[in-house]
Amino acid sequence: MRFDLLVKGGEVLDPQAGYHGKMDIAVKRGRIEAVEKNIPQDSSFDVIDASGQYVTPGLIDMHSHLYRGVTYWGIDADAIGSQSGVTSWADAGSAGAVTLQGFRDWVITPSKVRIFVFVNISCIGLVAQDYELFNPEYCNIDLLKRVVNRHRDIVVGVKVRAGRSGGAQDLLPLKRARRAADELELPLMMHISVVPPDLETALGFLKPGDILTHCYTGQTMKMIDSAGKIHPAAKKAWESGVIMDLGHGCGSLSFESAEALSSQGYWPHVISTDLHTLSIHGTNLRDPLKGAGKRDIGTNGDALSINYQVKGDGKPNFHLLTCMDKLLCLGMPFQEIIRATTSRPAEVLGRKGEIGTLKPRAQADITGLVIDRGEYELMDIHGVMRHGREHVRNTFTVLGGRRFERIEAPTPPPWIELV
Ligand SMILES: [Zn+2]
Repeated sequence: MRFDLLVKGGEVLDPQAGYHGKMDIAVKRGRIEAVEKNIPQDSSFDVIDASGQYVTPGLIDMHSHLYRGVTYWGIDADAIGSQSGVTSWADAGSAGAVTLQGFRDWVITPSKVRIFVFVNISCIGLVAQDYELFNPEYCNIDLLKRVVNRHRDIVVGVKVRAGRSGGAQDLLPLKRARRAADELELPLMMHISVVPPDLETALGFLKPGDILTHCYTGQTMKMIDSAGKIHPAAKKAWESGVIMDLGHGCGSLSFESAEALSSQGYWPHVISTDLHTLSIHGTNLRDPLKGAGKRDIGTNGDALSINYQVKGDGKPNFHLLTCMDKLLCLGMPFQEIIRATTSRPAEVLGRKGEIGTLKPRAQADITGLVIDRGEYELMDIHGVMRHGREHVRNTFTVLGGRRFERIEAPTPPPWIELV
């Protein structure tokens, strides 16, 4: 046998490699070995029939929260990844200098999926819901550098939350995060949400190659003015090479912002979930336990469209495919959606050619997808509804050359009340 695994008969879609059409993918020793038409079935020990499906590089979710058991926000990446075809993840600031070793030992090493880290400028990371920046002494650059230099293989950037939720008293955390990123020679990922600071001040801290997450936010740091026109500072950042990341979460996808920006040609460079304990269950940002028990309204048909009802405002974002449904509904071409969930994030994570592509020698991470047609109710985080006509569903996943079987999601932590 020439190959270990063959994915046969699918519609291969890899924007970076330029593959678009019916092809077979052969895998050997955990790597992509060949992408060709009509590779014989009997050349491989194992065969996945992908006919009628899209076959894409293993998906990458560049903004998530995965430090389960230690932080308020952490969810299980293996379970969600196995159910949605996401094989590589980046955690956005769950761990800080003091907690990074634990993240590595207790989460990253035992996980099946690949996990990269944007390390928080605050040494405590996102242990509790908010206020990691309340004490300026937590933003210790020297400590951060000492720790990051021992974890260079997994750290891909520095994370800071601009806006009220971090609890910063002034601009000091942004200044320290900027300096830390520069001295570590890593990109800075900045979250925007609620003023202060204002958008322009926050954007002033970003350079080309840095990442702004929550680009379609409807909160007070949003990137459009009252007439729906892109803010001049946002336009400058978008066009100058700052990476614009969706980061849906439970506070950051406004259809109003998304429709205004996309109609002016401003699409996210990277589509990510900001998946965490709240967003995954469709709860309200501040008061997960309050509210009238509104039903979760999500896309149906995949294992993660759980029947949980949450006592909250119900703003579900089950996984990366839910984000895809919403971007399709907004009119983003499917090929661009795949680019924004494969090769683009791979490049931002400094892993171009290694993940996010099906080119020979890349890691054999492969995702099967189908697009169901019908009528699907989609909701933004403000409860605004749209009706989508397409729903993306995961059919199979290969991780590191092996079938990635579905794993049941663990029960949510006690602060998430399900009814
Ligand atoms: Zn986040």
